[in-house]
Amino acid sequence: MYLSIFDLFSVGLGPSSSHTVGPMRAGADFVRRVHDGAGLASVAGLRVDVYGSLAATGHGHGTFPAILLGLEGFRVEEILPEQAEARYAAWDAGAPLLLGAQLGGSQLPDGEGVALDYHVADMIQHPLTVLPRHTNGLRLQALGAAGEVLADETYFSIGGGFIERLGEEASVEHLESSEPYPFDTGAELLQRCRESGLSISEVALANECAARPREEVLAGIDHLWDVMEECKDSALRRSGTLPGGLNVRRRAPEWHARLLAEDTKRDFEYWQEWVNLVALAVNEENATGGRIVTAPTNGAAGIIPAVGFYATHYAKACRGLGEEVKREQVRRYLLTAAAIGNLYKKQASISGAEVGCQGEVGSASSMAAAGLAEVLGGTPEQVSNAAEIAMEHNLGLTCDPIGGLVQIPCIERNAIASAKAVNASRMAMMGDGDHRVSLDEVIITMRETGKDMLDKYKETARGGLAVNVVEC
Ligand code: SF4
Repeated sequence: MYLSIFDLFSVGLGPSSSHTVGPMRAGADFVRRVHDGAGLASVAGLRVDVYGSLAATGHGHGTFPAILLGLEGFRVEEILPEQAEARYAAWDAGAPLLLGAQLGGSQLPDGEGVALDYHVADMIQHPLTVLPRHTNGLRLQALGAAGEVLADETYFSIGGGFIERLGEEASVEHLESSEPYPFDTGAELLQRCRESGLSISEVALANECAARPREEVLAGIDHLWDVMEECKDSALRRSGTLPGGLNVRRRAPEWHARLLAEDTKRDFEYWQEWVNLVALAVNEENATGGRIVTAPTNGAAGIIPAVGFYATHYAKACRGLGEEVKREQVRRYLLTAAAIGNLYKKQASISGAEVGCQGEVGSASSMAAAGLAEVLGGTPEQVSNAAEIAMEHNLGLTCDPIGGLVQIPCIERNAIASAKAVNASRMAMMGDGDHRVSLDEVIITMRETGKDMLDKYKETARGGLAVNVVEC
């Protein structure tokens, strides 16, 4: 089953795909079910239980207000940061939760909803309790006037904004199994390329077009890239420190001004500074709670745009060429990255809470390296080699964000992993694609390493930098 590029890369809010986007989706799914089942008008109360990593680091990730946004019916793909901020301010001032207000539909006029005296402080947190399926667990119950349970659902936020409801498969849209080039492993992907004579991006595009018209696919990919660009630009317009209390200074706006002054001719010598800048900017915007493309997660969202910046500004296939040529290359870049992302999602995990940061930043670095190799004209074997090299040198990366905030080490880590991706691509392009360690072997190794990693290094705020660095 092929996971669509629109599942792997979706537009949402920062700072975390698993701890912000997923919980918000769970809230929205729940309220829709209540709406379609018992009916919103019969709800008089709520009970929300938050488990494991979601509870342990939920405060720094905006998990709890994100659940409330979902319960009001906001869709993560559509909500604007200003709308979210307005609701946060209203709740802080004591305003009620407006259950289902944003759902629309026949039961409730848009903008109303069932007013409930329910607040973030009412959520019950169980940081030391891990539900059997996944560490990011969330149970939502709607209660009637007599306290009776009208609806009761448990969700798991399994990484990258994907959610699962207890008792059913991942509730993501994915392409039907009628895709023309099915693959579950890197070896199968290469085999599909050999049989068809297509590149990896062409295989991915053909699979996408099995579910949607080609024009819709291309427009959707262009939209993803535009949101990535706007995300970076938005960060460059900001100033001051990031929210959350760590007093982390925004560096991207200053670096941008300096680069514009120093690198007036866009000299190749400065490529790494620009790549660093884009990664920092996107991740600063993510930490701000801005609009972001999960790629494949929010914590790792700067890598694909940063390496994409390299591709569009420094690769021969784009350098000095028109916007249409760049668009075409960006599509190839993102389609290839998504094809490789499929392999990580199917064979391992892209969740920091499940396998550590190697699953988030490592996967993104590998996906970006593959996409860049495709733009550089690599064969499918070279593209696969680039993905393999990038992951091989991210193995073992732990997830230990200070204060549970997606800031330190996350922001710089994206810049470092972007440079690794560029290097991995360039190394792969120096070879013929033949390599000793296969992409599948390194993906399985990542999965096994993640399983062996102590829980304290998997987004629990109980190990590593999260406990060894004083927060203020
Ligand atoms: S350390 Fe890595 S996995 Fe953990 S929150 Fe930061 S970017 Fe995500």
